[in-house]
Amino acid sequence: MPKEKERYLGKLPPKYTFILNPYAEYRFTRCPNCNRKMKQRKLPLFIHVDPCNPVALNKTCRYCPDCDLLIAHQDEIESLLVRLFAQLDPGIIGNDYLVVGTVERPAWRESMKQPKDIPEMLEHLHDFQRVHTVKVQPGGWYPAGLDSSEMPVLSPGPLDTLWKKQPRPLATPKPQRTKRKGRRRGRK
Ligand SMILES: [Zn+2]
Repeated sequence: MPKEKERYLGKLPPKYTFILNPYAEYRFTRCPNCNRKMKQRKLPLFIHVDPCNPVALNKTCRYCPDCDLLIAHQDEIESLLVRLFAQLDPGIIGNDYLVVGTVERPAWRESMKQPKDIPEMLEHLHDFQRVHTVKVQPGGWYPAGLDSSEMPVLSPGPLDTLWKKQPRPLATPKPQRTKRKGRRRGRK
């Protein structure tokens, strides 16, 4: 069993169950766990962007106090990241990233005035206690007694952000040229 300590980056006790919502069309005004109305909570989220670009974004998230569940919308996070890295380092845009946890507000505020190095940020970081994914099942009629794991799942559509540009499907096939053989466009 891995030791608790090794699992976490931050030095503060882990907090919250976290979901990064990949659906632009579902905003989870109700908790996906207990179905109560969700509240809002504005928190500095600590995000690690590959290869080594941690940032803290102050972001309003959905919050269920009963489940201690925090939901952030992926498209909103990515829009903020695009805006930030367009100024800092546009080459980073599109890299993989991970929302790791939350940063204590006073430390976040100080870091806005005076950027902190990574070890210093980790002193003020609460990792998420748990990270869950969320799947939406399309509404409709299902046979009685069908286990929820057997129901169809809607896959999230492409997000309208500039962070990850989705490859566009070719609308109309171009007329084939046979002139240059052996030279293909660089797509896998
Ligand atoms: Zn709940």
